[in-house]
Amino acid sequence: MDSLGEASTSMAADETLDPPDWADVKALSHRIMDDAMGYLRDVRERPVWQEMPAEVRTFFTAPLPRTPSPLADVYGDVARNVMAYPMGNIHPRFWAWYMGSSNFTGALGDFLAAIQGSNLGGGNHAAGLMDSQVVDWCKEMVGFPASASGTLVSGGSMANIIGLTVARNIKAGIDVREHGVAAIPMPLRFYASDQVHSCHRKAMEALGLGNHALRRIPTDAGLRIDLAALRAAISEDRAAGFKPACVIGTAGTVNTGAIDDLRALAVLAAEEDLWFHVDGCIGALIAIAPGNASLVAGIEQAHSIALDPHKWLHAPFEAGCALVRDAVAHRGTFAVTPEYLESAPRGLASGQWLHDYGLQTSRGFRALKVWMALKEHGVEKFGRLIDQNIAQGRYLAGLIAAEPALELTAPVTINIVCFRHRGGGLSGEQLKALNTEIMLRLQEEGIAALSDTTVHGQHCLRVAITNHRTRREDLELLVAETLRIGAELAARMSPAGEQTCP
Ligand SMILES: *Cc1c(COP(=O)(O)O)cnc(C)c1O
Repeated sequence: MDSLGEASTSMAADETLDPPDWADVKALSHRIMDDAMGYLRDVRERPVWQEMPAEVRTFFTAPLPRTPSPLADVYGDVARNVMAYPMGNIHPRFWAWYMGSSNFTGALGDFLAAIQGSNLGGGNHAAGLMDSQVVDWCKEMVGFPASASGTLVSGGSMANIIGLTVARNIKAGIDVREHGVAAIPMPLRFYASDQVHSCHRKAMEALGLGNHALRRIPTDAGLRIDLAALRAAISEDRAAGFKPACVIGTAGTVNTGAIDDLRALAVLAAEEDLWFHVDGCIGALIAIAPGNASLVAGIEQAHSIALDPHKWLHAPFEAGCALVRDAVAHRGTFAVTPEYLESAPRGLASGQWLHDYGLQTSRGFRALKVWMALKEHGVEKFGRLIDQNIAQGRYLAGLIAAEPALELTAPVTINIVCFRHRGGGLSGEQLKALNTEIMLRLQEEGIAALSDTTVHGQHCLRVAITNHRTRREDLELLVAETLRIGAELAARMSPAGEQTCP
């Protein structure tokens, strides 16, 4: 019979994704490993970034593959079209936005995590214990008590959402989980400086409170939250029938690296009965840097902290961490236990359910890459590297201050330097065009990756040195090349010359 024939054929050839010949993949895998080490070793010799040619863009429009290709060909495609055109953040002269520069041990961790393939939603297995241990280590790094709780998440944005969700639920005055935000009797207000990261806006939206529930408080000359203005806003809101619920302190703003006065915010939060959350995505880990730890004093008094191992611990993306002082409040915000996820007294299901501390059910094994790098280097070395980046930020600021054609546009607190080319007599709009063009040419010529921003209404270039490969000579090169490109462009754009800047 036909159907029986088909059934027996398929039984004879159960398919799998495992390689038909392990010896084959072994040779190829060793080559991939060799290439990977060469790739990292020689990163300094390559451009920071390069534009992708048309054929590379076309490559990514190929339709869904229906039939097999040899793995060696698949790897060839990846090497040519992906590995050759990176974002560039592992390069010693990548200083755009704010991200870490990864590390080889972390990459091995990601590889081994994928080989084991464990799901960290919960269960009784070693990866779960390691996940909790890395959270414990994060608590220890920022001075949180052992009784606090926490969870590894995709990054700082999610870590902030975790902290702010607990804050909302604790301060709502009703059971928000059951009744929703519409039942909150007095509208909640959250406070942060006008330098607060955009992820907090998204968080307020996702929490159902809306963007207006986050009041942006003006900053002082150092771009730190103005405490008098904060107090005034709180009393104004109370008088108007709002419920002040939470103050978000920033330890390292994304624009300039400014650090709010965290000790003062802790006192203010206690007096005003607010939840005190710290966005420490940039600066929480300064707590492990011996030369600069005092800058973030007070962070240990927060109710919740967001920090980002994929920034100053250089974990390969992604790894963020949310810490919550009150473990009961944390679990009470997220735990849901349907029957299919109940704990058993013994066996695989007897472990802690890590999905009770956040929004994800399935969770990747993020802990391994962080754990391996911390174990290999020790936390003291990470602390020294943070000090090194901060010293480099100050060194760059000194180089810029010494060049008449350049000027600093914001105070340098840590590793973020905002500056611009003066352009000799150009107007505001032209100055912005000049500096934008300098930034683009530095990228396109593969020299350095910077970003730009606006600080107190003034456009500027921005260098964020979260990079364990940067050397002082790289910063000297940046200044020299900025002067070269700037002089070329300024000559063409000067009021007397032609306006030919593209
Ligand atoms: C990077 C950053 C975030 C967002 O973190 P992700 O890891 O990118 O999600 C939030 N706040 C600050 C201050 C940051 O620098």
